[in-house]
Order: sequence, then C-alpha cells, then structure tokens
Amino acid sequence: MSLKRITLLGSTGSIGRQTLDVVRAHPDRFRVTVLVANSSLDLLIEQAVEFRPDCVVIGDETLFDALKVRAQEVGLNCELLCGRAAIDEVAARDTDLVVAAIVGFAGLTSAYEAIKAGHDVAIANKEPLVAAGDLMLSAAKVSGSRILPVDSEHNAIYQCFEEEHRDGIKRIILTASGGPFRTWSKEDMFKATPEQAVAHPNWSMGAKISVDSASMMNKALEIIEAHFLFGMSADLIDVLIHPQSVVHSMVEYTDGSVLAQMGASDMRTPIAYAMGYPDRIATPGNTLDFSKFSKLEFETVDEDKFPSIPWAYDCLRLGGAHCIAFNALNEVAVDAFLGGRIGFGDIYSCIEEGLSAVQSEKINEIDAIIELDGRMRSVAS
Ligand code: NAD
Ligand code: MG
Repeated sequence: MSLKRITLLGSTGSIGRQTLDVVRAHPDRFRVTVLVANSSLDLLIEQAVEFRPDCVVIGDETLFDALKVRAQEVGLNCELLCGRAAIDEVAARDTDLVVAAIVGFAGLTSAYEAIKAGHDVAIANKEPLVAAGDLMLSAAKVSGSRILPVDSEHNAIYQCFEEEHRDGIKRIILTASGGPFRTWSKEDMFKATPEQAVAHPNWSMGAKISVDSASMMNKALEIIEAHFLFGMSADLIDVLIHPQSVVHSMVEYTDGSVLAQMGASDMRTPIAYAMGYPDRIATPGNTLDFSKFSKLEFETVDEDKFPSIPWAYDCLRLGGAHCIAFNALNEVAVDAFLGGRIGFGDIYSCIEEGLSAVQSEKINEIDAIIELDGRMRSVAS
C-alpha cells in the first residue's frame, strides 16, 4: 500500500490534533507532508519533530523568525514558510489529501485553492462552505476535487445519502445536542459567561465552535453547510435536538426508511472516515458502548430561545449575501464575547441588526465574497 500524503491546514487545533492522532494510529497508511498553523509555535514545532513533514507554515508572519530559530534548535531542516499567501500556495501543492481544519472564514482561500487543484479535501472548516458554498462546490465539479465532510452531522449524512436515489430522499435531519444551555432559561442564557458557554456537555472542541454550539449558531451554520454540500433546498433540511449525541444525523427516504449514522461523540470517527475514504480504517478514538446509555431522546428546537435556527433558513431563502453576512457577523460577535467585550445575548442582537442591513444579491466571485465579508465585519465591530 502506498502512503497517502496529507497536507494538514490547522494542525494545532482540536480537529488538527485529532487528525494527527489518526495518523499516529496508521503509520503504514499516512505521511504528513505539510503542517500549517497560525500562532501556536511550540505545538507546531513539537508536531514537526514528531511527523517530519517536508514543509511547515506559520500563518502569523511576526512569528517567522522565532519559527526559524526554533526549527534550527531542534534540528528540523524542512522548508519553512509564513503568511496567508504561503498557506494558499501549499494547499494547492501536489498531495493525496488536504485536511481543512482552520477555524473560520480565514480558511476560505486555502480550502478553495485545494479544491481548484483537484485534491481530495476532508473539510471540517464549515465557515467557508457557509460563505462560499456555491463557489466551492462548482470549483470541485470543474477540477474533479472530492469534498469529504468531516463535520460530524455532514459526515453522517454523507454516509447515509444514496446519491443514486436522490429523488427518493424526503429530507435530511441534522441532530443537535442542544449545547450547554439546552435546559437554561433564555434570561439566564443571555447572561452566561464565556466559561459557561465553552463547557460543552458532549464534545471537546475549539473555543469558537463551542460558543456557536451554545448559541445554536453552529447548527444554523450547519443547515447552510448541508444545503451546499448535498444540494438540498432549505425546506428539505430539518433539525432535531438529540441530547445524547449518538445519532449524528439522518436521511429519510420517501419509502419511510430512515438511515442514521451513530457513533461515540468523538471526532476521530468522521476524521478517520474522511482520511481513509474510500476504505474504512480503525479509529484510535472512543467507540459506542450501547450498554452505557439507556435512551435516545429527540425533541424540536425552541426557536424563540434559539433564533439562529430560523435565521439560517431566512438566509438560505434570501441568498448568498445573507449567508456571507450571517457568518461574518457571528465570527465578530463570538470573538467579542470571548474577549469579554459583549454579553452572550449580544451575539444575537449583533447578528439580527447586521442582517437587517444586508441587500439581497448573488455573489459568486471569491474577491466579492471577501469584500462583503470584510464590510460585514466592520458593521459588526
Ligand atoms: P481550533 O480553534 O481548535 O483550531 C483552529 C486551527 O486553525 C488552529 O490550528 C489554528 O492555528 C488555525 N488557524 C486559525 N486561524 C488561522 C489563520 N488565520 N491562518 C492559518 N491557520 C489558522 O478550532 P477547531 O475546533 O479545531 O475547529 C476547526 C474547524 O473545524 C472550525 O471551522 C470548526 O467549525 C470545525 N469543526 C470542529 C469540530 C470540533 O470538534 N472541534 C467539529 C466539527 C467542525
Ligand atoms: Mg457539527
């Protein structure tokens, strides 16, 4: 078996570290050739020493000198690069799989370059799919790039979605844990602190997506992500709260069959699926133990408490500009919340007010998407 070469964008994050866990479990299958991170220099160096890539890229240019010094100290003699343009350039380089695990809109251009280059792309980075889903999926059609969803819900749907029976698909159902505030009152939730918001009951994730899970903006973004990945219209996408996070999502067919993918709340399952594809490979993570839980519960979303869900459907109906704005407003608001500059409830007001100012327009050029994203960030700030 020949080694699958992996370009890992966002190696120091939660998804990046779990990707390396899968690589560690399969030294005969994978070789990491490129590591990319933004600013976690110590961890990046540690990963480079362990995985011996051909190239290491640090996004933050102010850390480039420190990267060179540290690399010399530890005896790394691989190529060293820095900055956004370098990340985009390495994403397009010859490889067998690009794992897109940067957080936020910042990962857009590198994921787009990887797709345009025709690579297989295991994509965890959902924000670019929300802001530029049409563009990315169209580019994949042209280049032949295979987009393999890592986000657990979309990975579940990917495993259950019979493309050849698309006409027989009645709807897709995204499950949501409900996050840490599922049982809280709206008043208490609006006063929550960053520590309370990032304390997810089932999953251990990066700070941004943890806050998104608490506000259910994560599920809102995932509705839009599902629309682009699977070509399903808004009315064919449903959301159900499922506090146990065992059923990761479902596809319902017109004959009444519902296919669900189940697993432990461990991202190494969808990561291993996408990395091994089309083979099935062993996960180094937790697996499901049916004797450990006695029930699976499902309930509808309280849309008054979590208005992010109806907003996502509105954005899909209103079009591309609204999806770009929805994501940008949220990224700025979450950053402000994590920095202690606004309250949890203000995340919703920022998004609601910002969205009301957006003009409907179809935007399908990368530069126009970046321009509108920037404009919405200024509005939010
Ligand atoms: P994280 O904050 O833990 O890690 C983010 C990574 O991106 C880090 O390696 C960081 O160095 C890198 N990064 C950030 N800004 C960058 C920039 N400007 N240039 C280059 N690199 C940059 O985030 P995470 O939780 O691993 O999430 C990554 C993506 O995966 C997000 O889009 C998230 O929504 C998605 N996702 C995560 C999970 C999860 O369990 N963590 C589950 C589903 C989807
Ligand atoms: Mg998810």
